[in-house]
Amino acid sequence: MTENTLPSYLSPEHLGPWQTYLSQIEAVAPHIEVSLRPWIETLRRPKRSLIVDVPLRRDNGEIVHFEGYRVHHNTSRGPGKGGVRYHPDVTLSEVMALSAWMTIKNAVVNVPYGGAKGGIRVDPKLLSMPELERMTRRYTSEINILLGPDKDIPAPDMNTNEQVMAWMMDTYSVNQGRTTTGVVTGKPISLGGSLGRRDATGRGVFVTACAAAAKIGLAIPGARIAVQGFGNVGEAAARIFHDAGSHLVAVQDVGGTIYHPAGIDPYALKQHLLVGGKIGEFPGATLIAPSEFWSLDCDILVPAAVEGQLTADNAVGIRAQMIVEGANGPTTPAADAILHERNVLVVPDVLANAGGVTVSYFEWVQDFSSFFWTEEEINARLARIMSEAFDAVWEVAGERGLPLRTAAFVVACKRVLAARAMRGLYP
Ligand code: NAD
Repeated sequence: MTENTLPSYLSPEHLGPWQTYLSQIEAVAPHIEVSLRPWIETLRRPKRSLIVDVPLRRDNGEIVHFEGYRVHHNTSRGPGKGGVRYHPDVTLSEVMALSAWMTIKNAVVNVPYGGAKGGIRVDPKLLSMPELERMTRRYTSEINILLGPDKDIPAPDMNTNEQVMAWMMDTYSVNQGRTTTGVVTGKPISLGGSLGRRDATGRGVFVTACAAAAKIGLAIPGARIAVQGFGNVGEAAARIFHDAGSHLVAVQDVGGTIYHPAGIDPYALKQHLLVGGKIGEFPGATLIAPSEFWSLDCDILVPAAVEGQLTADNAVGIRAQMIVEGANGPTTPAADAILHERNVLVVPDVLANAGGVTVSYFEWVQDFSSFFWTEEEINARLARIMSEAFDAVWEVAGERGLPLRTAAFVVACKRVLAARAMRGLYP
């Protein structure tokens, strides 16, 4: 292989999120100072990628196999950090992209981590709780060689939660022969979890939305918000906007899309779903076609579900003044270009949804010192870090006339590459 030939996993048939990430790196490269440019290639390749077989004995005795992944994209600034996703569409290239965005995100908010991500290609809804536990424990054992509080610290992502983190922490601790709470974050409070972690990503979305809204003269009280994905991130963001006086005019979930111009009460919607209600039957709201969601008349659109939702097709119809990306990679590069052209402000994922990893960092610090902070302290520190990150990105965007996404990548890549250059190449 010549030095310029791409490894097979980076070949053109691996389009999708990894390709999106690579095009983001291409956009940032001209803005990196010449002395750091020789190191950019390290950002185009994950440092290490592990594929594991995860056999599971089902409750009926049958043995099934799932494919699991853990990728360390970059560890120049510290140990790998990033979530674990259980989803039937998980692929190695998706996990690579998600790990790369973690490298960028951790550097944007300046927490001392590299980027990592993991996942299992599985539909967890088809598993019983004991099966989910056995699969989680086997996956944790299989990726054990990469894990450790000073090596790689997983956290929840789609379809994983506090319980999954508790099983991962317990499995790692049993294998090590000592309780190691700091090996994962997003744990239950009873196991060294942090106050404020559950809402942290949604709160960070809100903090960055407020900072961006102030720049364009949009008042948050009374602002009309549309949220895609009513999970961990979307539900918390919807609730915090609602508490600040915004109107949640639309919610889209896998079960359907509802619209209510006077505002949906997110507390009532959560309760409705918790007791088994269908989203389309939420009292007072109108069920609309999923495709109509993108062109609704609103002020702030929060995609908080999965990647690749905002495309060239629907970007042309967006009526929101700004998009605040709760999800990772919800906007394709083609949509990004259209939104930039149409003057729709996009607060990118690597900035807007960094609240989760920021409070994960607080959790890790608290676990090391075994001294726990109050929720007020956590929320205040989160707001300060997110606001500082927003200001740094806004300044670079203004100085260089860049979209916020490219500006965030400039801020982050400079930090990562400066660390990389100082460390040098071994041997
Ligand atoms: P979640 O599983 O709690 O919720 C995801 C929600 O999206 C669910 O309500 C699901 O029904 C909905 N959804 C899935 N596919 C959809 C589709 N095609 N159309 C409409 N709705 C759909 O997951 P989460 O933790 O809230 O994560 C959501 C996104 O935010 C992911 O991209 C994740 O990587 C990102 N993220 C999460 C965190 C975190 O702390 N949980 C942090 C940073 C980024």
